[in-house]
Amino acid sequence: ASAWSNVPQGPPDAILGITEAFKADSFKEKINLGVGAYRDDKGKPYVLPSVREAEDKVVASRFDKEYAGITGVPAFTKAAAELAYGADSSALTEDRLVITQTISGTGALRIGGAFLQRFYPHAKKVYLPNPSWANHNAVFKDAGLEVEKYRYYNKDTIGLDFEGLIADIKAAPNNSIILLHACAHNPTGVDPTQEQWRQISDVMKEKGHFAFFDMAYQGFASGNADQDAFAPRHFVKEGHNIALCQSFAKNMGLYGERVGAFSLVCENTEEKKRVESQIKILIRPFYSNPPIHGARVASTIMNDPKLNQQWLGEVKGMADRIIEMRSLLRKNLEQLGSKHDWSHITSQIGMFAYTGLTPEQMDVLAKEHSVYATKDGRISVAGITSGNVKRLAESIFKITG
Ligand code: PMP
Repeated sequence: ASAWSNVPQGPPDAILGITEAFKADSFKEKINLGVGAYRDDKGKPYVLPSVREAEDKVVASRFDKEYAGITGVPAFTKAAAELAYGADSSALTEDRLVITQTISGTGALRIGGAFLQRFYPHAKKVYLPNPSWANHNAVFKDAGLEVEKYRYYNKDTIGLDFEGLIADIKAAPNNSIILLHACAHNPTGVDPTQEQWRQISDVMKEKGHFAFFDMAYQGFASGNADQDAFAPRHFVKEGHNIALCQSFAKNMGLYGERVGAFSLVCENTEEKKRVESQIKILIRPFYSNPPIHGARVASTIMNDPKLNQQWLGEVKGMADRIIEMRSLLRKNLEQLGSKHDWSHITSQIGMFAYTGLTPEQMDVLAKEHSVYATKDGRISVAGITSGNVKRLAESIFKITG
């Protein structure tokens, strides 16, 4: 018998299934709102002009192709740390931040999970918001951690269940690991306010919980990278020694280049050195060292003041287009005479809108209106354009009234 004769057929990836159904649909005006990637107002993938320029510079520099160190391109990680924490953060000025380049945000989560599995001195269990990005569960389980949920989303208000969240993190045993989406929560688009973040920080401090931040959308949420980094920066100011995962997939549009970083704030420089040595020992047998091209592009942007300014403007341009599509969708629904309260479409933030549509309604949306998105009612606002928003609103209106 074949060695693999007992390998069971696994279920297809939920998002991939949508893409396939979309491709198979011959209707000209079909709309794909499943993808988690930015599209321009023509519905096309967008390469940032700052990225094109940085790429030209990297190519013109004729760098060699030698390996990077285990933790990646130093000029990249230094700039990534400053972008996330702010150059004046005590984590940087006191030289107590360990940071390593990673295979985008997913790789950062996986390295972080592996480090906690090996060294976290308390329960090796991570609490995820309910719901969360679907891959969180798989990443942490594969890293050997247990996974638990805390309340996050209230389907009645289509908003944050703040009381439930606070109650659950209070009820978790002291020193629990809590995963927090730094901004633009995926899939709900619902974020705590700054005042709520302060309260979450206070409760987590009382409980001795460990804050593990996933920041996949810095700049992409509000259009301002500093504003989007409020939560992790506040936690560090409050004395939390946090973990942080960064991705440059969305904010630089570097999706397939796999550019990211994982960092841990330590107590002091001596601790940092020990932790760093173990991060290297952990990464070495995973993939030895990360790819260099994307990191060089990101580094070229962030380390050139003029390109950096340009890039921040382009991130804001993407965020603004998404914010505009949110208000256009809402406006169109209201003009059609919809009796529903669609205010959540504009109060939510980031790439996704959680419409509150049921799986059955999402089915009808696909089958009868050729509008494709995940069953949980999440639509990618990045897939909405000024050309398709009217038909999208009409389709949603027909289904929801
Ligand atoms: N975390 C969240 C919440 C995300 O939405 C994503 C991207 N969909 C990621 C992490 C990681 O993405 P990538 O590995 O492409 O950086």
